[in-house]
Amino acid sequence: MRVGFGYDSHCFSDTDRPLVLGGVVIPGFPALKAHSDGDVVIHSVVDAILGAAAIGDIGMHFPDTEERWHRADSTLILSAAVDMVRKAGYRIGNLDITIVCEKPKIRPYADAMCERLAFLLGVEGRAVSIKGKTNEKMDDVGAGKGIVVYAAVLLEEL
Ligand SMILES: [Zn+2]
Repeated sequence: MRVGFGYDSHCFSDTDRPLVLGGVVIPGFPALKAHSDGDVVIHSVVDAILGAAAIGDIGMHFPDTEERWHRADSTLILSAAVDMVRKAGYRIGNLDITIVCEKPKIRPYADAMCERLAFLLGVEGRAVSIKGKTNEKMDDVGAGKGIVVYAAVLLEEL
């Protein structure tokens, strides 16, 4: 078994595009600023699973200098990363994800995100855990300027 850890952060943009977290559209909030669709949850998960297999990171495999990842649906990046991890000889065990933001409230969307991520990762729903927290009004995250995500993952040898 191998453990991996991922981190990502993005600030809110002022576009009309909707916020996407864990592959789930969250109405009423703008997308996060990023080269791709800004799905900070998926980016953190991708870094965690690539890290667990010790095969690099998201910036190395999906560079933001490449046009094909511009506004890219991050679920495509996740599926590609899952393929790389399988080729390296591992399957996903379970994930524990913590989303830190003042808004939106995560709990109403947590089940949908778990289901979506489990589907993309090829695991059972209960293999994915999503927890939402605020930053207790501290720093820029506490001022509601963006979202930070931490992800831990366990890989099992195939
Ligand atoms: Zn990102």
